[in-house]
Amino acid sequence: MRIIILSREKTFLFLYLLGILFCLPLLLPYFLGTEFTEGKLHRTSVVIDPGHGGVDGGTKDRQGNLEKDINLDLALKIRAQLQQSGLNVPMTRETDTELSPFIPGRTGRHRRDLLARIAKAKTSKSLFIVSIHCDWSTDRTRRGMVAFYNYRNPSSKKLALIIQEELNKTQTIPQKAAPGSYFILEQPGITGVLIEVGFLSHPEEATLLQTQNYREKIALSISKGILRYLQTISSN
Ligand SMILES: [Zn+2]
Repeated sequence: MRIIILSREKTFLFLYLLGILFCLPLLLPYFLGTEFTEGKLHRTSVVIDPGHGGVDGGTKDRQGNLEKDINLDLALKIRAQLQQSGLNVPMTRETDTELSPFIPGRTGRHRRDLLARIAKAKTSKSLFIVSIHCDWSTDRTRRGMVAFYNYRNPSSKKLALIIQEELNKTQTIPQKAAPGSYFILEQPGITGVLIEVGFLSHPEEATLLQTQNYREKIALSISKGILRYLQTISSN
């Protein structure tokens, strides 16, 4: 009788140890506190917003290449890269279209267009929105990529600083992330970063922005920045 009880105890002990052994790989990330687990990433949404589109071409270079096309191509590249890491990546537009149509006699199209982008970001329950744009200046020597943030929002600032670090690995002259007064950054309830990926008024930068190789590099820098930011918030 005693022998039977002992073997039962041993069986329970064996099953108990076996249970711990199987659970260990699942619990390890929590013990280490550093890994952004696949499961978490699969539930994370980040909106990518290619600026302008459709009737709104944005700015353009001397050859007439439009900002809206560069923004969209970069955004599609960023989405593909982030999806490979398991992120859910809704976009405000996936084709060359405006988000609010031009209606003759009615003003405020641009504002309605931006509000539609914000609404999309909010309904997708995304952590933040990253807006992609190209810059233009009357000073033709101005060049460089800058990530802009809402200075009242610490998350926006932190995300912009990390993305800027990654962008600076790609550009010859490092730039500083800066506070920006853009409509899309100042909306309550959503964190935003707006990236100006270069000046279409700078001949050399405008030419670079027409090459697939350079666009791939920029997209990768932005994707890496986003993933690094997600790692920092998951380990806190
Ligand atoms: Zn723009």
